[in-house]
Amino acid sequence: MVSAPDDRARIADRLEADGIDLVRFLWVDHNSITRGKAVSRHALASRMESGIGLARTRQASALSDLGVPVAGFDAVGEVRLVPDPASYVRLPHAPGSAAMLCDLRTPEGEPWEACPRTFLKQALAAAAGFDVVAAFEPEFTLCAGPPTPGRLGLFDDSLCFDNEGFDAANTYAVRLVRALRGEGLDVETYHPEFAHGQHELTLRHAPAVRAADQYVWQRAITRGLARDMGLWATFAPVPHPGLRGNGNHAHLSLWSPAAQDGEAVNLFADAADPLGLSGLARHFIGGLLDHLPGLTALTCASANSYRRLQPGMWAGAFGAWGPDNREAAIRIPSRLSGDEAGSTNIEVKICDSTANPYLALGALIHAGLDGIRRRLDPGEPLREDPNALSDDALRRRGVTPLPRSLEEAVEALERDDFLMSALGPVRGALYTAIKRADIRDAKDMGSAAEHHTHAVRY
Ligand code: GLU
Ligand code: MG
Repeated sequence: MVSAPDDRARIADRLEADGIDLVRFLWVDHNSITRGKAVSRHALASRMESGIGLARTRQASALSDLGVPVAGFDAVGEVRLVPDPASYVRLPHAPGSAAMLCDLRTPEGEPWEACPRTFLKQALAAAAGFDVVAAFEPEFTLCAGPPTPGRLGLFDDSLCFDNEGFDAANTYAVRLVRALRGEGLDVETYHPEFAHGQHELTLRHAPAVRAADQYVWQRAITRGLARDMGLWATFAPVPHPGLRGNGNHAHLSLWSPAAQDGEAVNLFADAADPLGLSGLARHFIGGLLDHLPGLTALTCASANSYRRLQPGMWAGAFGAWGPDNREAAIRIPSRLSGDEAGSTNIEVKICDSTANPYLALGALIHAGLDGIRRRLDPGEPLREDPNALSDDALRRRGVTPLPRSLEEAVEALERDDFLMSALGPVRGALYTAIKRADIRDAKDMGSAAEHHTHAVRY
């Protein structure tokens, strides 16, 4: 990615140097499908300013690609895909092509009420006084080739963290790391995960919009490179029956904006606290817990998500928070020695790659800020494995049930006035209508086709 935040002239220079002929203007839709249009290198300069036209109704697409009937989203009306130069990357798996992520704007150049990236920016504006730092932690399933109905040919049958698994996927993994680093994406860790064929690669945390952009590029390059090598990578929550799920945990912390001569301070860290957490972090957790059921519709955003969000899957299926508790929706990761303050963060485990990263992050920020405003107390952290506790004991500890289907999640979202008002009337109506169409389609197609569709689309 381009390091200077707004440098159009440098993009033009880079296109020449990078041998780029097509530049994709991309956005991420309500179902977290990355879509866009492209301009040729020669037309780029003018289009950077004006954007590319897009029918409004494209933002009303269900996973089937059919538009849902929502007032104002029909055959009439346009918006503009306006690229953010700071998000520029080459697409290493698609020689000659580069891409930028876009805000959706009105033809007059105003932010559009159904733009997900704008939603995240608005959440950051609501967080005035704090810098929000974030990271996503996506897992994916590597396959030997594209899935066919009923069949997902896993690339490897290695065990969790298995050294043989590193060897099996080494050529792909090293090419992936090089490709990501070549685009300025700061790879931190990689390992074979719990399920056969499951892998995980993490990027370093970053300011929130950049973190979401980085995740979009990570997913695009991971999938594109696999396709280029005759393989297939899917980030679907559960791409085949019986597999452990692919999560996309969201990590968050609030920092004080760096003063000109001073260092930024992680306001979630408090060295004197046994968990290393400040009061601010606890209120933020309180807000997340308070809105957890409704948030789930935005973070576990597909019918397929709820095959993953089950007890015993380490997906955080219990409405609780706890230190290094992998069954709690909110885990407090133990801090890294040498960087205790910097590494203090909140991990939201109830998130997967069918969630639009801008909507998910924006909603988590709104919910956390609500907790800060209302000074909510998250209660005692859950230190035990909730699977070992009776229903009574879970209740006594304040562990709340989470939605068990997308339908339940959408109902919880619609009941959550705070989240619905944060989304705004247009986005809220669109989002819930799209999810209801997806719920109907998933029921009609049956479970085998649902797994396959998600393995293909994500
Ligand atoms: N695969 C688990 C999930 O669905 C996460 C396992 C882990 O990394 O803790 O979230
Ligand atoms: Mg993992």
